[in-house]
Amino acid sequence: MAKVQTVTGPCDSSELGTTLVHEHLKIGFPGWEMDGLAPTYTREEVRVRAIDKLQELQGHGVATYLDPCPVDLGRDVEFMAEVAQRSGMRVICATGAYKEDQGLTYTFAALPMEEIRDIYIKELTEGVGDTGIRAGLVKVATGSPTISPYELKLLTAGGMAAAEVGCPVLTHTDDACCGQEQLQILIDAGVPAHRIMVGHSDGRSDHAYHRSLADAGAYLGFDRFGIHTIIPDEERIKSVMAMVQAGYRRSIFLSHDSICTWLGRPIIDGKVFPAGIVERLAPDWNATHLFKRILPEMRNQGLTEEDERVIFEENPRRYFEGEVAPNR
Ligand SMILES: [Zn+2]
Repeated sequence: MAKVQTVTGPCDSSELGTTLVHEHLKIGFPGWEMDGLAPTYTREEVRVRAIDKLQELQGHGVATYLDPCPVDLGRDVEFMAEVAQRSGMRVICATGAYKEDQGLTYTFAALPMEEIRDIYIKELTEGVGDTGIRAGLVKVATGSPTISPYELKLLTAGGMAAAEVGCPVLTHTDDACCGQEQLQILIDAGVPAHRIMVGHSDGRSDHAYHRSLADAGAYLGFDRFGIHTIIPDEERIKSVMAMVQAGYRRSIFLSHDSICTWLGRPIIDGKVFPAGIVERLAPDWNATHLFKRILPEMRNQGLTEEDERVIFEENPRRYFEGEVAPNR
């Protein structure tokens, strides 16, 4: 058993229960406040929407919601604590900044790696600002087709902080690019492979890539269910079932990377889209989609109750405890 830091205080790893490992209560890309043409919401509206969604998830048995919002995408840990308290959902937040092309890079580009490491350690051990709310893990992110020097610096800082504190690391990859490189940088910084989740590995249907990460000891996030614009869910289901059938259920996580409230208008690949377009283009992209549509289909294809228990309960517990998975 280990202590896991949630936004409302520590809990035992054995209490995590069914866990969604990558969802967001709200996200605002850098500068979203400057877009005066975007729809506006009161804090109360955003809060009500978040609490409704968390309570809907509780109806599906979800007990823990991991929101790895980077510090530069509008992370608001007090908001997270408020909705955790009111909904009764356990919420875990992260420290760490986003990838270079979509992050807020001015300050961290100037700070030396060691100081960024110390900032992360402070957020993990003392809390974010003066809130006393501690991050439960480290988020790192890279773009494509290669990892930039800025991202390498942050990956190293994040890895060193996680190694020092003894917490897991969750990564963003752009469409399953550079997962092996991320893994190597984090391992070199002192993080054991079994404390690393290579996120967005469902961005490519490449079974050999998926197996290579699992064989190296890492977890893989098949964590963008519902975003058909990147890859259809049918492909994601095939990738997951191929892993389960090859005996890798102890190496995978399922989630959506959903955004309960998107602040500002969506800007995708440098282009501004009208508000509401995401809901129109990806109507299934929300945090209950797995339970409503994906898991029933996977069960038809042979996913067992025990597979689901391992993926949603045992893997998160092991990831936070730092326990190596037993042999498949
Ligand atoms: Zn995300």
